[in-house]
Amino acid sequence: MTSELFDLSCKTALITGGNSGIGLGYAKGIARQGGDVCIWGRNPEKNKRAFDELSAFGTEVHEMVVDVADESAVIDAFAETLAIFGRVDGCFANAGVGSGRNAFHELSNEEWRRVLSVNLDGLMYALRAAAGHMKERADAGDAGGRLVGTSSISAVLGYPRGATYAGSKAAVIAIMQSLAVELARYQVTANSILPGMIETPMTEKALQNEEFSSAFISR
Ligand code: NAP
Repeated sequence: MTSELFDLSCKTALITGGNSGIGLGYAKGIARQGGDVCIWGRNPEKNKRAFDELSAFGTEVHEMVVDVADESAVIDAFAETLAIFGRVDGCFANAGVGSGRNAFHELSNEEWRRVLSVNLDGLMYALRAAAGHMKERADAGDAGGRLVGTSSISAVLGYPRGATYAGSKAAVIAIMQSLAVELARYQVTANSILPGMIETPMTEKALQNEEFSSAFISR
């Protein structure tokens, strides 16, 4: 990617789960193109490391410790993000957790709720706050915005022992399509990204497993 590709100066992006893996990749791509970034994550050490990496691009960077599954924490953190940057042009609802590889008939309610509370509740809380802000801006004559949800290829391919995760990611696609139609009038676009297997802390254990890795990578 070259800096001539597009110019994000004077734009601010909020990236949930921006301290690691794919979210940190989004944040770096945006900062490289001149955009300011605000990253949210739960782990202060990971936030600090990501902050240091992102600061090298020379744009404004903030990190916040936020659990996206906590509705009031998201409401407060979004207000704080606006207080710091004045606006949010792009919201990347990316924070997510994997599910245990349970056989479906043995799936516990706790595991189901653990995954959905982050991958769906958390996504909704962040996007809802961003959509409200973008509508307010549009009403004030400053229309525009970008909403992005990180889905997964598991949403559209059969993912054995992964119904919870795959279900959460399929819902992301439907939510983003719904928002795309609903918010177009405010010049807000909404899209899903469906990554395949990407080497990040989330997939580290699976990729280290020789049997899984050789079967998967060869495909
Ligand atoms: P990762 O490096 O483990 O990133 C997950 C991110 O989510 C971390 O920044 C983590 O930060 C944050 N997070 C998790 N729970 C959170 C919570 N309750 N509140 C706030 N932040 C939270 O894994 P990744 O692979 O980049 O995953 C990013 C997204 O891509 C996820 O939605 C994942 O489902 C999706 N995805 C990944 C792959 C893949 O192959 N890697 C494929 C398809 C889709 P803290 O630990 O600090 O909370």
